[in-house]
Amino acid sequence: MPVVATISQSALAENLASIKAKCGKAKIVSMVKAAAYGHQIEMVAPIIKGSDFLAVSNLAEATKLRRLTTKPILLLLGVANTAELTAAISLKCHITIFDLHQIEIIKNTKTKLNIWLKVDSGMRRLGLLPQQISEALDTISTNPKINIVCLMSHFASADEPKNPTNNSQITRFKKLPAAKKLKLSMANSAAILSREDAAFDFIRPGIMLYGISPFEWMYEYLQPAMQLSAPIISLKTIKKGEQVGYGGTWTASKKSTIAIIGIGYADGYPRHAQNSTPILINKVICPLVGRVSMDLIMADVSKIKVKVGDLAILWGDKELRVEEVAKSSNTIAYELVSRLNSRVIFTAVE
Ligand SMILES: *Cc1c(COP(=O)(O)O)cnc(C)c1O
Repeated sequence: MPVVATISQSALAENLASIKAKCGKAKIVSMVKAAAYGHQIEMVAPIIKGSDFLAVSNLAEATKLRRLTTKPILLLLGVANTAELTAAISLKCHITIFDLHQIEIIKNTKTKLNIWLKVDSGMRRLGLLPQQISEALDTISTNPKINIVCLMSHFASADEPKNPTNNSQITRFKKLPAAKKLKLSMANSAAILSREDAAFDFIRPGIMLYGISPFEWMYEYLQPAMQLSAPIISLKTIKKGEQVGYGGTWTASKKSTIAIIGIGYADGYPRHAQNSTPILINKVICPLVGRVSMDLIMADVSKIKVKVGDLAILWGDKELRVEEVAKSSNTIAYELVSRLNSRVIFTAVE
């Protein structure tokens, strides 16, 4: 039996509905990059149907998405050369401009082009510097084929609502002369949830669409969209003092029943998951024991009734959110859902 990821269509729809209820007039640019955060682009129809815009990172993702929708697609990483520009235009993508070299690539376009100008308001990653914006606008304005849809920026620390850089980024962004004339976009999930003054004209939800909290703490009303499960393929009883798995990193303190589960790091289960990482088996949380191996993990199931073939839920249940597994594995939920391996079978469920 394979590892299965079920993607709940109703959870996706509810999460999108709760974003709409929160953000009034702002248009929704749903982030479906990285195969819809690992949920697979073919499995997230409610998001594709219900959003105003969709955003992906690169042309390969845009090509896949274009087969599923006629809605505008924003290419977050823009174009690197004229060949990519031609491809982006033929896919009817809006493109992000974050560097002056991209202005050179697009400035003589003879085809209508929708662009989103990205400004670095303090994150020091992608984005034109505030002082480069007027130069960029001057060049673009000579070509009537280029339409600036929006001025956008990205928060460095929106997941820490009290971090003062959030205020200083908003201030710097709003102070730009161009911000008075253009539509604006700044909010990712964390900003959507924590500050209404960052909603502006377009919001850009990502992780929350999939029912996952962008913060250290959880949001009960976000509905987990992905449930990951794998079968118990063997059971054994071990004696007090025996060790389990590679390196013997867990020792039984008493006679114990161990379930061997058919999922490992090659499927995308985090190798760094510590002893005691929660696993849901027959509605009871059981602790992971021993090291995660390529195809297998082990759980202590001494306290429950269980048989070979029963399913273990690794995450994506009200009782076991992926955020908790991420915490036990020293990573973030974004990483866990977006790096499932192609060996995992995906199915859409109601
Ligand atoms: C991925 C991304 C987002 C969404 O971030 P979440 O934290 O997942 O909501 C928003 N804006 C940009 C530019 C992104 O690349």
